[in-house]
Amino acid sequence: MPAKIIDGKAIAKKIREKIKTEVGSMKVKPGLAVIRVGDDPASIVYVNSKEKACLEAGFYSEKYELKEDIDESDLLKLINKLNKDKKIHGILIQLPLPAHISQHKVLEAVSPEKDVDGFNPVNFGRLLSGNKYLVPATPKGVVRLLDEIGVKIAGRNVVVIGRSNIVGKPVAVLLLERDATVTICHSKTKDLVEECKKADILISAVGKKGLVTKDIVKKDAVIIDVGITKSDGKLYGDVDFDNVKKIASWITPVPGGVGPMTIAMLLENTLFAKRKIEENK
Ligand code: NAP
Repeated sequence: MPAKIIDGKAIAKKIREKIKTEVGSMKVKPGLAVIRVGDDPASIVYVNSKEKACLEAGFYSEKYELKEDIDESDLLKLINKLNKDKKIHGILIQLPLPAHISQHKVLEAVSPEKDVDGFNPVNFGRLLSGNKYLVPATPKGVVRLLDEIGVKIAGRNVVVIGRSNIVGKPVAVLLLERDATVTICHSKTKDLVEECKKADILISAVGKKGLVTKDIVKKDAVIIDVGITKSDGKLYGDVDFDNVKKIASWITPVPGGVGPMTIAMLLENTLFAKRKIEENK
């Protein structure tokens, strides 16, 4: 039997509608500021869709589109201003940043209270130490998809391909916390094929079209494809979807799988940040 499709678009829509209803009855709306530096075409698309989702959910939204050659100190000043702005509960810096700006410095400058991407080392450390606060949106979305389809996580072999701070590492930590046995693979992994064949749940976060083929997937595995590559004007994941779906039990499509969940989780994080800021006033 071919794999069931994990409809991230529909699951994300349900989450966004719930958030919209909640926000509808709020006097003070959750406020998200999104900062983009430079004109990377993919970043423009991501930032615009985040802004659109915010407005649709009834959030207050600010968008900052900064020149590629902005001084690091000016960017830090803007972040500092937003840290103090009462209308803003979440600050998101669209990555990547230009090479002359230190990503570490910038992410550390975002107040941990407003760090809706969960990339500030304070929140990253909280995640690692089992005291989650604001959790990176894409990894959180991946775990939510697994929960939505009702797949058992505890005791299962999970293989994560990719070890970035944005996806690979945090998703591995979240699943470890749920009692999975987690293996993290990367470009220096000796035998990716053998590692992947052991996976009950295989998560690919690389950005290489066709990396995950049918012969490296275990029968009835759950496949989560985080990767995005653009080729011939079309979006592709890391997984050879048409062939892998013949042996997997569940699989995410690209587009329409993990992507919509990232935005839904960002809204959820902003709402969480607002609640916590108000509780701590
Ligand atoms: P990244 O920072 O470039 O990390 C990619 C990872 O893949 C690295 O750890 C790298 O290993 C590993 N890798 C590269 N080639 C490999 C190979 N042949 N075999 C095994 N591992 C390999 O990327 P990222 O930010 O984590 O994003 C990963 C992908 O997810 C991208 O396509 C991105 O566009 C997509 N993404 C999607 C969403 C969404 O909402 N759907 C959100 C975020 C990211 P090394 O560490 O050894 O270099």
